[in-house]
Amino acid sequence: MANKDYYKTLEVDKNATKSDVKKAFKKKAMKYHPDRAPEDKKVEYEEKFKEINEAASVLGDDKKRQQYDQFGSASFNSAGGAPGGHQGFDFSDIMSQFRSGSFGDFDDIFDSLFGGNGGSRRNARARRGNNLAYEIEISLEEASTGIKKTLDLNKLENCSDCQGKGATEFKSCHHCNGSGYVRKTQRTPFGLFQQTAPCPYCHGKGELPQDSCDGCNGEGLVRKRKKIEVKIPGGVENGMKLRVPNEGEAGMNSGPNGDLYVIVYVKEHKYFERSSQDLKITVPISFTTATLGGEIEVPTITGKAKLKIPSGTQSETVFKMRDKGLPFLRFSGTGDQLVKVRIEVPKKLTKKQKELIEKLGEKEPSKSFFKKVFG
Ligand SMILES: [Zn+2]
Ligand SMILES: [Zn+2]
Repeated sequence: MANKDYYKTLEVDKNATKSDVKKAFKKKAMKYHPDRAPEDKKVEYEEKFKEINEAASVLGDDKKRQQYDQFGSASFNSAGGAPGGHQGFDFSDIMSQFRSGSFGDFDDIFDSLFGGNGGSRRNARARRGNNLAYEIEISLEEASTGIKKTLDLNKLENCSDCQGKGATEFKSCHHCNGSGYVRKTQRTPFGLFQQTAPCPYCHGKGELPQDSCDGCNGEGLVRKRKKIEVKIPGGVENGMKLRVPNEGEAGMNSGPNGDLYVIVYVKEHKYFERSSQDLKITVPISFTTATLGGEIEVPTITGKAKLKIPSGTQSETVFKMRDKGLPFLRFSGTGDQLVKVRIEVPKKLTKKQKELIEKLGEKEPSKSFFKKVFG
């Protein structure tokens, strides 16, 4: 028997992946589906359709494809003689399937070829889209006030050519007369039961696709870039997940969209340290201000504020500035800013300054400290 070139039949490369094979098969089979054959080409289309099915059933199956690559198509046709004992193909089942139905049954035929166990039926049911995660880094300033950010997403969206249906032309399902439901009689030990179930051919939709959308290869979904704006609330915590409903990937077969989770990371600040909604900062003050007291200006996360330093302030003293921290997320109010002052010892002095400092140093505290320690 002549060796058939299955790769040529499907017009795919020798290195084509399984999904390439599936795509090629779907495209070809759609084209040569006997239902679409012109009156004078019925036989030709049927032959072609058989060839396509045969090629796909081999190239779509890893084991068979390996066998084919090694031994050629003849190894399948001689019943019993093939390595692995493969039988010839029997297409009578497939042919009767598509004769009795139309394109709606097509996915089932497709699946039986690729050894799917009703996968397309499952897939044809509405399925919720995937959730997406998007990480974003913001500054502490932005975290304090809240900010709007534009996210550039690359996600599965409903195909605009077919509105996510995978096909542009539909016909009323003749299995259920367009109702989407079929009556089933079930035999049980208690007698016969009549049951209404969703039509397995149209999956309860009442209509069957008549073509495969070019825009999405019949998948109904396409990957698209989409910009969306999200509002990050003031006071957002580091690592917080913000849920944006319905902005995940589109659902399959009119299923609902998934959600988008924006994970917010707050960058560390060079000067401010965050502790929940409080902020801490260390501010240098002069020896004079520490000694005599005074008012200083300290930075806050949104600008600046005045802080009173009482006379006799020691280095490392912490002052609390109310409501200068970050806003609380779950209730009203704002955290505080804690200011630690550090007395800066001057490194260079004029002669006059030196004299004045020396006068202060006449009372050396370390001398009385000895007394404290040794009693
Ligand atoms: Zn489409
Ligand atoms: Zn139906």
